[in-house]
Amino acid sequence: MQKIGFIGLGTMGTPMALNILRGGFELVVYNRNALKCAPLVDKGALLAASPMEVAERCEITLAIVSDPEAALEVALGPAGALKGLSPGKGYIDLSTVDAVTSRRIEAAAAEAGARFLEAPVSGSKKPAEEGNLIILAAGDKGLYDEALPLFGILGKSSHYLGAVGQGAMMKLAVNMVMGSMTVALAEGLSLAKGAGLDPSALLAVLDEGVVSNPLFRLKGPAMLRGEFPTAFPLKHMQKDMRLALEAGDAAGSALTVATAANEKFLEALSDGNGEEDMSAVYKVFK
Ligand code: NAP
Repeated sequence: MQKIGFIGLGTMGTPMALNILRGGFELVVYNRNALKCAPLVDKGALLAASPMEVAERCEITLAIVSDPEAALEVALGPAGALKGLSPGKGYIDLSTVDAVTSRRIEAAAAEAGARFLEAPVSGSKKPAEEGNLIILAAGDKGLYDEALPLFGILGKSSHYLGAVGQGAMMKLAVNMVMGSMTVALAEGLSLAKGAGLDPSALLAVLDEGVVSNPLFRLKGPAMLRGEFPTAFPLKHMQKDMRLALEAGDAAGSALTVATAANEKFLEALSDGNGEEDMSAVYKVFK
């Protein structure tokens, strides 16, 4: 049986790793805070002391950590996964990062003779638990084909998008639209409330028309109840808006709507709402 490595047992990583274990794979896990490995080890996963050790012991290693800095640390750090890679092995980074970060990891993997795939995921905690993520992969096509059984466990669909960087860009474009829509919804609810309308009536009317969508249906009523249980933390949404805006800058695209939405996420972040769901951006409109 192929041995699979998994680095990063946060909100997304834990349910994803559990699903791989349930799928019958032998799994080696690592998390910076080792306490978070316990639920996996209890279910039969093997513990590693560093990302390097994970990669040494496994044919394919997956990682999903916070941001570009964390992705570089677990891949290229002093005890990083790439130090444990040998020719033919595969490294798949599922974290949401920018294209430049992904290409740095790809180059280091190539030096080790290993194969690299970036594969950020769309969908939050519940889709991760249910194996309903959308995988946005780019890089080594052979590794992609080999990883399809894993992607089948983690997600409801997977897309192969070409050269490394394309997966990162697809993910950032998706989240940029989602972040802008979330702020637009918060603003609309605030306008309705300020004008003396019942904001839940606005949700009902929106849902009957052409802009009806699952995001508004999921987040709108909870925003009005003042409940923001974390599915996708606001701090990560703001990180993705920042990375999308930087990519826009590099490409010479003026991202006007996203720039304005990002200001609202920054405001919510500085108010201390980073650990709450991204929908907590509604608070800054009150
Ligand atoms: P999270 O719950 O905050 O977990 C972050 C993980 O990264 C933890 O395992 C953490 O380790 C690790 N980490 C952070 N900095 C590190 C470092 N310097 N060295 C080693 N490990 C480090 O994040 P998440 O929600 O699972 O998100 C993970 C990634 O998936 C992010 O890129 C996010 O944008 C993306 N994503 C998230 C969602 C979502 O809904 N949550 C959806 C799609 C994509 P410790 O436990 O030791 O802190």
